[in-house]
Amino acid sequence: MIWDLDNIRPDKEISRNEMRKIFESPNLIQVRLVASFLQNEDIHVNLTNQHQAGNPGVPHWAIPVNAKLWVLNPAQYDQATAALAKYWDKQSQEASEEWTCAKCREMNPGNFLHCWQCGLDVESMGPSS
Ligand SMILES: [Zn+2]
Repeated sequence: MIWDLDNIRPDKEISRNEMRKIFESPNLIQVRLVASFLQNEDIHVNLTNQHQAGNPGVPHWAIPVNAKLWVLNPAQYDQATAALAKYWDKQSQEASEEWTCAKCREMNPGNFLHCWQCGLDVESMGPSS
């Protein structure tokens, strides 16, 4: 049989019984970051829809498509979810380094640019204060 290559979507070639989806996002860069993180953990993953998602060449009328990340080996799925949970933890920790207000000594979450209590601008606090 001759395959019409233009009509084969990448996710049609995959046996969905074998692979399990672990993550999807319209943000292709984020999906790729997660993919390389999991690969570093020796988890075999596959990306689908990456050519449709986040592609500047996609016509303006195209609906957003999520890039999807699949764990190839079902036996690795639990390991992959555990690794991914660790990954998100690390991400949110980095986003939430607390800082202490130099004026009122209040603790503030890292993503706050001003002290929630007295309004001091975090940028205005010099390292010598
Ligand atoms: Zn303050």
